[in-house]
Amino acid sequence: MPKKIQHLNIENKLRDFEQACRDAGLKLTHQRLEIFRELATSEDHPSAETLHIRLQKRLATLSLDTVYRTLATFEKHRLITKVETVESQARFEVELEKHHHAICRQCGAITDFVWHSFDEAKMPEAIIGWGRIDKKNITLHGICGKCANLAGGK
Ligand SMILES: [Zn+2]
Ligand SMILES: [Zn+2]
Repeated sequence: MPKKIQHLNIENKLRDFEQACRDAGLKLTHQRLEIFRELATSEDHPSAETLHIRLQKRLATLSLDTVYRTLATFEKHRLITKVETVESQARFEVELEKHHHAICRQCGAITDFVWHSFDEAKMPEAIIGWGRIDKKNITLHGICGKCANLAGGK
C-alpha cells in the first residue's frame, strides 16, 4: 500500500488560505471557507459535483454553479490544484505535501504518492533552458490493484 499523505496540516493550511485570500483581495465568505475546508479534508480528489453533494448537508442553499465558480477562482489564485486526469470531469485537491498521482482508468481512483528522489532529481540536459518550470509532477495511468483483482477473479 502506498503511504497515505497525512492531513495533519489542515489548520495551518486554513490560516494560509485566509491570508492568501486577503492578499488576493478575495472576500472570505462562509461558503468559500467551507468549500476550501471540505476540499482540504478530502483525500479522494473530488470533482465539483462530489464536493457539492457533500457540502449540501451543511450548506443547503449552495448551488453547483457556485462550487464551480469558487473552485475556478481558487485555482486561478493557486489556492488549490486541479489534478490532470483524462476524464472530462475536473478533479481538485488542496496540496498539503508535494506529491504525485497514480490514476486508475477503471474506477477513476486517484492515489497520492511521494517520490523524493524524483523531486530532487536534476532536469535532463535536453530541457534545461527550455523556460520557466512552474510544476514538476508525475502522473501514472493504469489499473489499480483492486480493479486488477476484480478482473482476474472472474
Ligand atoms: Zn481501480
Ligand atoms: Zn493528490
